[in-house]
Amino acid sequence: MHVTRIMNGSLLDGHGRVATDLRVSLTDRCNLRCTYCMPEEGLAWLPKPEQLTDDEVVRLVRVAVERLGVDEVRFTGGEPLLRRGLTGIVARTAALKPRPQVSLTTNGIGLGRLAGPLATAGLDRVNVSLDTIRAETFREIARRDRLDDVLAGLEAAARAGLAPVKVNAVLMRDVNDAEVCELLRFCLDHGYELRFIEQMPLDAQHGWQRSRMVTAEEILARLGERFTLEPVDEGLRGSAPAETYLVDGGPAVVGVIASVTRPFCGACDRVRLTADGQVRDCLFARTESDLRTPLRSGASDAELADRWRAAVRGKLPGHGIDDPSFLQPDRPMSAIGG
Ligand code: SAM
Repeated sequence: MHVTRIMNGSLLDGHGRVATDLRVSLTDRCNLRCTYCMPEEGLAWLPKPEQLTDDEVVRLVRVAVERLGVDEVRFTGGEPLLRRGLTGIVARTAALKPRPQVSLTTNGIGLGRLAGPLATAGLDRVNVSLDTIRAETFREIARRDRLDDVLAGLEAAARAGLAPVKVNAVLMRDVNDAEVCELLRFCLDHGYELRFIEQMPLDAQHGWQRSRMVTAEEILARLGERFTLEPVDEGLRGSAPAETYLVDGGPAVVGVIASVTRPFCGACDRVRLTADGQVRDCLFARTESDLRTPLRSGASDAELADRWRAAVRGKLPGHGIDDPSFLQPDRPMSAIGG
């Protein structure tokens, strides 16, 4: 856990939370079509002129780090490895003072080639999404035959020292939920840290059903049939979304991110920037604040920082998935940055 710099002008919201963890979406495009995320035909991608350029991304990240107390920057998407300038963006982010932690959430395709250059550029860590280690199930979920590329990407990340290499898995009933122990065994054998994520209502097709969701409770019960799990962070979870368990006495751990059934909004320290320069204070927010227009109209760093502070001030206390009035955000996960 790193120490949060709370300073004058931090991204403080009306409920006393301070956002220090910035998730930056570098593209809304993806080379997979995971059923719980996107339709088979893809989506209407953002037109290039609407997307921030590399320089614009780095400028906003710099404002966040230098003026707003952000100390962790995670690049995501869409699929961030599809962004041509990624290595340069990482290098320029890692060169900021004070140096933020720099990480990447990726499906791992292309990491075989890019893990080394990204580590050299200053990337600290990766989270690789992998929902199954069975080729046929991978094809069913991702609608692409790319399991071998993902596995090669994971190995390259470990070789490049992007540790701990974390694996994110979403379980779907009757698709890959029977693999819960197999996935953990695979990660233990390879030294990857596995985290299961409850499926959230963020798919472009609006097909999510709570009754079909594999819950954290269910995941833990199934793991408990084969492994001994011992909570490692009771009372110490802080803003970390994953509840973590020592596996068979440790040192390996497994995490469960129960965004739906055990939300952690009260400790949320995240803020998001979309690929087209909109600030979102929550994955589930129904409003956004535009930074691209002022950025392109010549706003100073101080003005951008002021707008950013104003954007998070009204952050709601919780995501409200359980509220009967809950409405899924207009943008799907792939366009927000997961
Ligand atoms: N393409 C990159 C990847 O695969 O990691 C980054 C973007 S992706 C949207 C980030 C994470 O969000 C992935 O781990 C993915 O499995 C997860 N995700 C996508 N849709 C989701 C949903 N409806 N519920 C929960 N997680 C979801």
